[in-house]
Amino acid sequence: MIKFFSYFVLSMLLLGGLLRFSLEFESAQDIALEQMYRAGMSNTAIGLANPDSLRVFVCGSASPLGNTNQAQACIAILTPAHFYVFDSGAGSTANISGAGLPYGRLQGVFLTHFHSDHIAELYELNLASWVIGRPEALRVYGPKGVRKIVSGINDTYELDVGYRVEHHGSELLNPDLAKLKATTIKAGVVLEDGDLTVTAYTASHAPIEPAVGYRIDYRGRSVVISGDSVVTKDTRRIANKVDLLLHDALALPLTVAATKAATKAGLDRPAKIISDVMDYHASTDSLIELGADIDTGMIAFYHLVPNPANLIMSKVFERNLPENFVLANDGDWFELPSDSSEIIHTSK
Ligand SMILES: [Zn+2]
Ligand SMILES: [Zn+2]
Repeated sequence: MIKFFSYFVLSMLLLGGLLRFSLEFESAQDIALEQMYRAGMSNTAIGLANPDSLRVFVCGSASPLGNTNQAQACIAILTPAHFYVFDSGAGSTANISGAGLPYGRLQGVFLTHFHSDHIAELYELNLASWVIGRPEALRVYGPKGVRKIVSGINDTYELDVGYRVEHHGSELLNPDLAKLKATTIKAGVVLEDGDLTVTAYTASHAPIEPAVGYRIDYRGRSVVISGDSVVTKDTRRIANKVDLLLHDALALPLTVAATKAATKAGLDRPAKIISDVMDYHASTDSLIELGADIDTGMIAFYHLVPNPANLIMSKVFERNLPENFVLANDGDWFELPSDSSEIIHTSK
């Protein structure tokens, strides 16, 4: 048995070496490229296999604090008939593209508030979906202030849109579909689209106001996306009996340690900024307390403050976590089959 295993490993290594060597030749590179692009082009239906599911894709799990290779706040919600994105942080569009999500049917973007880490890639998202053939202008929903954001982006990228229309022709790229449209929302039901309902609730992220979170309901399943907020009465109300709560999470032991280290090193500015951040995100302890108080299927931490850059930092986030808590990462999927209580969490 050991002999067989040794032969097997040896032949695999030889085969790998041979393949690697063959890529030195242009003809082999061309064949590999053709296969690679063919696979890429057919990669447009990931996450849509089960028509009865509400699917959640983590297109950005990070916050602006700390180094990371993860994208900033972004959650995509998909059903066979719906595709909405909630916040559009830096790096998130590449994750959406990488997962092969169906840009052509992107219906709208919901913003929780207008901190840069939640809006940085609005235009990239708009551009990617416009170029692929989205049939309507992209609508951006958000609290008061969303018009200013949208009109600023439309103005800033007017030249870019013009270049692309001139280059590819207005028949292919209709300039009207490149302009974002704004809808100002308040707490309450903000969208009813067939079986899918989106409800906004008031978040607490002082001094940023207004800030909201969203609850999505679809065929007996539900998801809450917090945006940035501490835990409030509104959180308790909206997240009670929800299947999946995605909440921003701050690990106090990490921010306290970082502040102390910065102060000791005489880095007063970073020390002040990190300590300022502590009071407007939900601490992991407050979320554990919330989880004990309310009836929730699963709580996933995203928008991690600070971003865990190594295993030690992740372990601190995981301190005392009950079984139904997880840390979200870019590329994670949560599948919620209709009319059941099942939540299937997969990481890439
Ligand atoms: Zn914020
Ligand atoms: Zn944020």
